[in-house]
Parts: sequence; structure tokens; C-alpha cells
Amino acid sequence: MSAGFGARVAIAEERYFGGTCVNVGCVPKKLFVYGSQFFEEFQNASVYGWSVNNTGFDWATLRDNKTKEIKRLNNIYVNLLTAAGVEIFEHKAQLLDSHTVRINDRKVTAQKILIATGSWPYIPNVQGRDNAITSNEMFYLDQLPNRLAIVGGGYIAVEFAGIAKGLGVETTLIYRGPLFLRGFDIDIRRFVYEELKKKEINLIFEDDVTEIRKNSDKLQIILASGKVLDTDEVLYATGRKPLVSGLGIENTYVSLNERRGIEISDKFQTRDPNIFALGDVTDRFQLTPVAIAEGSSFARTQFNQEQHQVNYDAIPTCVFCQPNIGTVGLTEEQAQEIYSTVDVYESSFIPMKLVLTEKKEQTYMKLLVDRKTDRVIGAHMVGPDAGEIIQGLAVAITANATKSDFDRTIGIHPTLAEEFVTMRNKTRSIG
Ligand code: NDP
Repeated sequence: MSAGFGARVAIAEERYFGGTCVNVGCVPKKLFVYGSQFFEEFQNASVYGWSVNNTGFDWATLRDNKTKEIKRLNNIYVNLLTAAGVEIFEHKAQLLDSHTVRINDRKVTAQKILIATGSWPYIPNVQGRDNAITSNEMFYLDQLPNRLAIVGGGYIAVEFAGIAKGLGVETTLIYRGPLFLRGFDIDIRRFVYEELKKKEINLIFEDDVTEIRKNSDKLQIILASGKVLDTDEVLYATGRKPLVSGLGIENTYVSLNERRGIEISDKFQTRDPNIFALGDVTDRFQLTPVAIAEGSSFARTQFNQEQHQVNYDAIPTCVFCQPNIGTVGLTEEQAQEIYSTVDVYESSFIPMKLVLTEKKEQTYMKLLVDRKTDRVIGAHMVGPDAGEIIQGLAVAITANATKSDFDRTIGIHPTLAEEFVTMRNKTRSIG
């Protein structure tokens, strides 16, 4: 975008074009989620009259087809940059001062430098941590393990729990707190807990790993509670830290906050006026679409003289656990703190696709409404394609839609999404 606005731009990338999202994040993860859903689809097919025989799963096929697609996307990124006239350096860049970076023994100077180096998975300092892997390695495993233990209770932990279980792996998730997915609406967290239990994912809460031992070809996890767990692979999904090491920021005025994220102004400017930063490296919202919006805003303000601000209100998000979580706006806990009276509308039911089957999987939907203004301040869902559904609601919530706006919207029948415009009776009020 900056080049499109007339700037002379160079980009230094030491690893892969497209960053975490394209290479070891959202994109391959979603392909794995699709791959993992076939097992249940095959199970459900018979009530629709289909006989599905001889199903079997080959990990190498999924992994390698995924990698082929990622390579295709890498090339698209390089082509886009080249077509925009961007000079590409396929090396690490290190800041030498406020205007200079060293790239592979060459010194490159620039009027403005943007740091968008993202984040890197973090494994806490437990004994035997070298025996654990992160999401980076999950995408390239030589073999799919028979048993997988996942440590953490956030996005990556629950998403990989669903993927692994769907691919036939005996899956255990270990979370240190009383209920995973901290930060999400409490009803969503409880609902997902029940659904993952139904899928026979082994959920261990309020426990933590103290040691990971390697015994010949298997791993043994020692938990704080004294429990011992045998497994074949241990995946740590305990957060991601800003990627700032080796960047040479000590040669500039760039400062870090207490979580080692780069401190920036609302114009992405660091303490060093020539250096800017955005995305995961600033450790604010670790979400691709936020980083993209920030990158676009940076280009527009710096090189197209626009007064642009990213809208950080009501950022929608989806956790691709199975069933998915889709959410936008305030959680019930947040709404309660801000508004005097909040009306809650809820609905749960078996999605139509499953009514003929033996599956007991439920869908849950929830709207939070500020009684005083009638504005919908939060929409939450657990169910198939929740992300696809919540994206549309995010437009409505960003536009300050009221519950009456929802009520006068005609539903699309029969869909799951129509439930959001037909929830007439509030289930309870808070405050
Ligand atoms: P999250 O921050 O989502 O979750 C980290 C989890 O690890 C939390 O449950 C946390 O517990 C736990 N944890 C942290 N430190 C420790 C520790 N020392 N010992 C034990 N447990 C610990 O991080 P993820 O790694 O899951 O994902 C990183 C980020 O990537 C996410 O925050 C998200 O923004 C992004 N992402 C987005 C996706 C999407 O949009 N669908 C998909 C995947 C990732 P506690 O709650 O107690 O702090």
C-alpha cells in the first residue's frame, strides 16, 4: 500500500512471506480444522442414506497438501510485493540507528522504518521443556502422534484439541485455571467445556506441568497434583511473545513495555520518531485482521496524507475449536461493569444438520442489550460456522444497531443465524 501511494519501499523478511498467519497460524490451522471434521461427517452420513466404507486418514497427505498451498500463497505475496515495486531482502534486518538497518552486511537507510516482526510461541521454564513442541512444529510433524497432551487454555490449545481429536488422536488438554478460554463470555466458556467433554477430549483443569520426561519413545508428564500422564507429544500453547530479540532496538530510542511489546503512540510511532511498529510485536491484539488494519492505517496516514484511525471497538473474533466460538462486543462480565441494566437473550438447540443423527452437539447464542439505549453490546455464539455468522453481526454492532433493529430484520430460514433476529424473550437481566 505504501508503495502504491508513491513511497520507495524495501522489506526485509528472514523466514517466510505472509508471516505467522499464512505459514504457521490461521491458514494452515483452518485447513487442518477442515481435515479433522471429516470423521464426524462420515459418522453422520448414514442417516442421510450414505454408506461410507473404508475410511482412513493419512497425515502425510493432509500435511503436504497444506504445505503446497502455503508455498503457493508465499509466491503470491512475493509477486504482490514485486508488482508494487517493493525491493525484497530475504534476510534478517538489524537496526543500527534510527535510520539505518543492517541486512546481510549491507547497510540500508530509510526515512521511516516499520517494525512488524510479529510474535513467537512461548514455553514457560518447566523441566524438560525441550521435549515439548509449539504450534510451529505441529504443522510439520513427521508423524501424527497416537496421544497428544496440550498445555494451555487459549485459542491455540482448544483449536488443536479439536483438530487432534478429529484426526483420531487421544487428546488431553491441561489448563492451570478453573475454566479455560479466560477472557471470553462465561456462558461461552461453560458451553464449550460441555461440548469438548462430549467429544471425549480429556480436560484437566487447575493443574500444571512440573516436568516432561522422555522415556525411550514416549513422554511422561508430571503434574503439580502428582498425576503422571503418558503421551507421545506435548504441545505448548501458552501464549506468544513479541519478536524483538536481535532486532537491534537497543541502538535506537525504541522502548518496550513490561511484556516486552514495543511501545507506540496511536499513530504507531515508537519513542524513536522515525521508527514505527504494529501488529503482534506491540503485544496489544494478537489478531491478523487487526495487524492488517494497522498496516493499512500506517500506509494511509504516512504516505497518503489521510487522517486515519483504526477502530478497536468491538473487534470480532472466532476460535476455531469444534464447535466454533464466534464473538463480538462485550462479554456479560464486561457489560455488567459498564451498564446499569443489561438484558440477556439466549438460545440453545441442536443444529438442524444433526437432528437426524445420534449427535447431541448443541449450538448456543447470546445477545447482550443495554436496557437504557436498546443497543446490542455483545453477540456470542458456539456452533457451526460461528465466525461466518458473527462477522455479519459485527457490522451491525459497529453501526450501533439496537435490539429493535435486530427484531425488525427478517430471518433467513432455515439457518442457525436467523436465531439472532428471532430471540424475542429475554432470559434474564443483570443489574
Ligand atoms: P492465549 O493467550 O490465547 O492463551 C494462552 C494460554 O496459556 C492461557 O490459557 C494461559 O492461561 C496459558 N498460560 C500462559 N502462561 C502459562 C504458563 N506459564 N503455564 C501454564 N499455562 C500458561 O495464547 P495462544 O498461545 O493460545 O495463542 C496466542 C495468540 O494468538 C492468541 O492470544 C490469539 O490472539 C492468537 N490466535 C488467534 C486465533 C484466532 O483468531 N482464531 C487462533 C490462534 C491464535 P491463563 O488464561 O491462566 O492466563
